[in-house]
Amino acid sequence: MAITKRLQIFTIFGLLLAVSQCVSSSTCGYEACPDVKEDMLNVHIICHTHDDVGWVHTVDTYYHMWVREIITSVINNLMQNENRKFIYVETAFFSQWWDQQTELTREYVRRLVNDGRLEFISGGWSMNDEATTHYLAIIDQMTIGLRWLNETFGTCGRTKVGWQIDTFGHSKEQASLFSQMSFDGLFIGRLHYQDKAWRERSKTMEFIWETSESLGEKADLFTGVLPNVYWPPKGFCFDTWCSDEELTEDNINYKAHSFIAIAEEQAKYYATNNIIMTMGMDFHFRDAGKWFRNLDYLMNYVNSLQAVGMKVNAFYSTPTCYLHSLYESNMTWSVQKANFFPYASKQHEYWTGYFTSRPALKFQIRKYNAFLQMCKQLVTLADVENADIMTLHKALGVVQHHDGITGTEKQHVAEDYARMLSEGYALCEDAIGKSIRILLSNDTILPRLYFCEHLNVSQCLFTELENQYLVIVYNSLAHPVKSFVRLPVLGEGYSIKQL
Ligand SMILES: [Zn+2]
Repeated sequence: MAITKRLQIFTIFGLLLAVSQCVSSSTCGYEACPDVKEDMLNVHIICHTHDDVGWVHTVDTYYHMWVREIITSVINNLMQNENRKFIYVETAFFSQWWDQQTELTREYVRRLVNDGRLEFISGGWSMNDEATTHYLAIIDQMTIGLRWLNETFGTCGRTKVGWQIDTFGHSKEQASLFSQMSFDGLFIGRLHYQDKAWRERSKTMEFIWETSESLGEKADLFTGVLPNVYWPPKGFCFDTWCSDEELTEDNINYKAHSFIAIAEEQAKYYATNNIIMTMGMDFHFRDAGKWFRNLDYLMNYVNSLQAVGMKVNAFYSTPTCYLHSLYESNMTWSVQKANFFPYASKQHEYWTGYFTSRPALKFQIRKYNAFLQMCKQLVTLADVENADIMTLHKALGVVQHHDGITGTEKQHVAEDYARMLSEGYALCEDAIGKSIRILLSNDTILPRLYFCEHLNVSQCLFTELENQYLVIVYNSLAHPVKSFVRLPVLGEGYSIKQL
């Protein structure tokens, strides 16, 4: 008990100290970027965690098992040293964590965001897949994430860079949407191993992606390929998941030179004297102190070697700041026009099964995405109060994840996604019912509304058992369509009247 109390006092003291240090500054984005050294190789260290919203475990299990602890640990350790920076991506997780915090903690986090020490990247509800998703679903899932960031953190919560580091290949449409969302750049992790090897040889790891022939220049997006998917360099993983040795007085000289050798090797594949180095992997940073302690030590030692002529400058950075450095370098970049599909991580290892696996879940997600559009439209048109659209909206945001709609998740996780979708769907049915009653109440008396949900197996108990009923058909598209309405019936003859 005594130890716990001392730790609490230390933590609070640490937080107060950090708050008093950063009261005076309020910069974020490009203004918060560290200075680079023109005559040196600048190594931008990017501390991050990749938190899948469901994969081997369900989204809730991940949150309670690891993610809550990761975010808390990162925040506490950012407070202890103002040079440290961290990026976070999945707004579904961060907003859940935020809801459980005290107002005091929220204030500390706001200050970290305003100082550019905690930066949100991409900012969607999840890191969506790019091959099997519908563009409307991508827009929807990005919308709820970005809206939450904007409402919670204002300008400094606005993301400038896309971060699609684990999706299994990359689409022009995704990049085009990011460009239309006013993003300044995009970083990707997975592209065909032969393409990557060619890009390394030709120093075209970074390029301008011309994403849309119809939109032209306004859909162009600077895009960078990360050097090592999104993982730390070999020998420098300081997570509790890893077994790399921590830095000590005995090994720091050797490790620092080893780090410099990796940086110089990497620099051969990139066009400027800036390189990006990711530190973190799936669900890393549960013990953020271990990461930051070792990286502080490593960077201090590496930079101290500048005094004896070493031309390497390492510092905490963000993808936004790395992008800023590239912009400042005034390079002319090569152009890319095609998609990055299919993805192969090595010979005979093509990631293409996910285009079609779990077709029932894929169908459910498409169908419910269309239903969400109808739900949003009718609730808005009827100005319904207390309609729950967000449960379905958030569930659809989660399942666009690159281990969701793709089908690469475990069976029980797929079932959990289906459960979340069904709960949201039922609430949207209720919202649509309320909307239709309001919209039609002037001239029609509506009995109970019934949704025919089993038309795929030609079943609808209501139309099969009732002799007389009203059929409401709504077209949620922005243009007229001609289509048959198919209803299962048992009778032999019906008369149909239009109201
Ligand atoms: Zn992932």
